[in-house]
Amino acid sequence: MSTAAKPGPDAAAHRRTGVVLLPGHDEHDTGDHPENSARIDAVVDSLVSGPDWDSFEVLEARSAEVADIARVHTRAHIDLIHDYSVSGPNWVDGDTLVSPGTFGVTMRASGAAMAAVDAVTGADRPAGRQRPDSLFCLIRPPGHHATADRAMGFCMFNHAAVAARYAQEELGVERVAILDWDVHHGNGTQDIFESDPSVLFVSLHQWPLYPGSGWLDETGAGEGRGLTVNLPMPPGSGNFEYLDAFDRVVGPVLEEFGPGLLIVSAGQDGHIADPLSSQALTVAGFDALALRSALLAHRLGIGLVAVHEGGYNIETLPALDHAVLAGFSGIPTGRFDRLSGPRGSTADRGDPVGWEPRIDQVLKAQKPFWGRVLEG
Ligand SMILES: [Zn+2]
Repeated sequence: MSTAAKPGPDAAAHRRTGVVLLPGHDEHDTGDHPENSARIDAVVDSLVSGPDWDSFEVLEARSAEVADIARVHTRAHIDLIHDYSVSGPNWVDGDTLVSPGTFGVTMRASGAAMAAVDAVTGADRPAGRQRPDSLFCLIRPPGHHATADRAMGFCMFNHAAVAARYAQEELGVERVAILDWDVHHGNGTQDIFESDPSVLFVSLHQWPLYPGSGWLDETGAGEGRGLTVNLPMPPGSGNFEYLDAFDRVVGPVLEEFGPGLLIVSAGQDGHIADPLSSQALTVAGFDALALRSALLAHRLGIGLVAVHEGGYNIETLPALDHAVLAGFSGIPTGRFDRLSGPRGSTADRGDPVGWEPRIDQVLKAQKPFWGRVLEG
């Protein structure tokens, strides 16, 4: 086990963090669809009236150019989203709605991620002006299900992928790591980078669950073999299982890869009260995942960009996103006790989830590629 991945209580406390806002995101009008504008509005309203707002760096999204999106998606796909918007509303797949404003909003959502990359790398500011250690893009629609040529699962353009390619091609970042803790597998991100040895994709997701991909044997292809790391979490997994997975696999693998930028696909839909999953993560769990990620980036001396993916309980999402920012910054977490259960796994509720056999399977699947940093 990598003891270096275990944060101490005061380790690198109070890193500088903040948000990238997306004004006008409600122009992606999905009505009462689970992925609706009230989600992000509730998060921003809560943060603005909360105790930490003044400490945050606050940026606004810019629009990506078509050329930025085209680093990741086919022209045919970009044109389709544009045309479906113009003639909208249209369903682009069974659960993904495109309204007349969608094209512009999802272009700006990708642009938010690019602006965050600029900021955490210092590319947007003169030498000497402090850069944030991390930024959380409060954006919608989400992106991680979008493949190079297909919209699905509420996603049109893959913002994490666009940001990764932007960092590589415009800012000279050689290797990028993408950590996806959304409860659904980031099939789009995997699809885009599975043959690319310069981008590591690590995903923690409930399995089985939509979209059905993300099993252990999906480990990358061609030159990217070994650089797709899937951790299919049994239904009912909570804080203990997710943090055990981070400490025993995610952290050591990310650190060994040695990226120049860490992008987190931050979906908080693995929360115990989320309507779209059956995981048992609590606010404290998301705080801890964010803290571990931020400390990892700190040790590597790299910036961290989080892009908002899922999270569909509007009552709990503000606290969850606040917890992510708290973890990034090192803000003490006592204020979250109200919503935090002890460890929060179903195992604690007397409902074993078969975690030990599963983590053994994960370690066995990854040993051929990462054996030098994995134990057990
Ligand atoms: Zn999700």
